[in-house]
Amino acid sequence: MAWPFFAAIIGALLGLKRTCPKCGREQIVPGSQKHLAVRCKFCGEDIPPRRR
Ligand SMILES: [Zn+2]
Repeated sequence: MAWPFFAAIIGALLGLKRTCPKCGREQIVPGSQKHLAVRCKFCGEDIPPRRR
């Protein structure tokens, strides 16, 4: 099962990938939470939505 691999690619294409400001690790945000702050699954820090 290569789900994490595909998730990373799809997430990058959709702009759903975020980098945690605290620990610097990348993770995919569900589309439903695209405009919301999400909690880093590695360190628990809140990651704000990307601003443009
Ligand atoms: Zn983190």
